[in-house]
Amino acid sequence: MSGRLFLTFDDRHIDSWVAARPILDAAGARATFFVMEADELDDRERAGLGTLLHDGHAVGSHGMRHRNADTTIDEHGDDGYLALEIDPSIMALRELGATARCFAYPNSRRSDATDAVLLRRFTYLRGGGPRTADLDEARIAVIPSGPAPRVLPSRGVDTGRGAVAHLADADTLTALLRCVADHDASLVLYAHDIAARSDANHLHPARLAEIVAEARALGLAMHTLDDLPDEGSTP
Ligand SMILES: [Zn+2]
Repeated sequence: MSGRLFLTFDDRHIDSWVAARPILDAAGARATFFVMEADELDDRERAGLGTLLHDGHAVGSHGMRHRNADTTIDEHGDDGYLALEIDPSIMALRELGATARCFAYPNSRRSDATDAVLLRRFTYLRGGGPRTADLDEARIAVIPSGPAPRVLPSRGVDTGRGAVAHLADADTLTALLRCVADHDASLVLYAHDIAARSDANHLHPARLAEIVAEARALGLAMHTLDDLPDEGSTP
């Protein structure tokens, strides 16, 4: 049995991500952090990203200002979008030592047209996927063995937002992880803040610990998206 689990986290919750390092370390997991507003980070946040990179985690782009790709391209054109939202983000992240080789879509807003524009800059793009307890539907997020698609499906694992709890779908995720292990497949998960309580979308640290322990027990490798080969399958 093998298979791969890619953990990803979005936005700018750098302090929480740094605090969660022991959870990832305990399971030998490496994650990919998709950062927005890379030009506005304060000294502590910049140092935090340095720590995550030093640990072997990867940092990708989540855009400069979290603009929706589709509407911003409509408004500014392909080149205008890249100049406004993407190129400055890549530049700021590279100055911090990140590869910025991958991109996660803000609000999961993508289309074939936005993929084509963004693949001019990135090797892999992370799209979204349904958060459903229905296993057949959830399996859409499982990436079969072989070259990974340039546009990766993913599954959300946040436990809540503010006081509102999200779908309790631990059983569905367990079934998906088993499926990934049995078929030498891959699965990309995404979350935001890592905290017991947060106004933002957040993954409870105890739930993160559970997920990585489960993946480890199944023998899943937990590498960063930067570990994917340069050649993906073309969309
Ligand atoms: Zn976001």
